[in-house]
Amino acid sequence: MLPSRIANLRCQSCNTVQPVGLMFRTNPYRGWNKIDAVRCQECGTLHYLTGKGRNRRFFTVVTPMILAALGLGSFTIAPFDGLHWPNDGPNASAPNLLDGLILVFFFLVPALVATNRFEDIAIEPEPDA
Ligand SMILES: [Zn+2]
Repeated sequence: MLPSRIANLRCQSCNTVQPVGLMFRTNPYRGWNKIDAVRCQECGTLHYLTGKGRNRRFFTVVTPMILAALGLGSFTIAPFDGLHWPNDGPNASAPNLLDGLILVFFFLVPALVATNRFEDIAIEPEPDA
């Protein structure tokens, strides 16, 4: 899947790309719907995100990425008519719903998924049978 390719979270033993949606649920700071580990479909290794450096990364990577994605997205779709509210003012750029959806799904979400590339992955010891 494309989001998993963007996030590029790879198995620590066989280097296969792991599903980002599942891996994200192993984040230790997650309070809801959390899982302990994800089993690699290729080699069966259990791994999880350690969450190391998440607070620091929020300010140094995630916040700048959000601003950059929304800024770049707004700049890119600004010339297109029909994505803004009709406005007589000199700065007629208030986005409408379609503009907002394009911003979120084509600029904001890929940027946030890409920040998962900085996540720290660790191997979970196999639980005793
Ligand atoms: Zn593997």
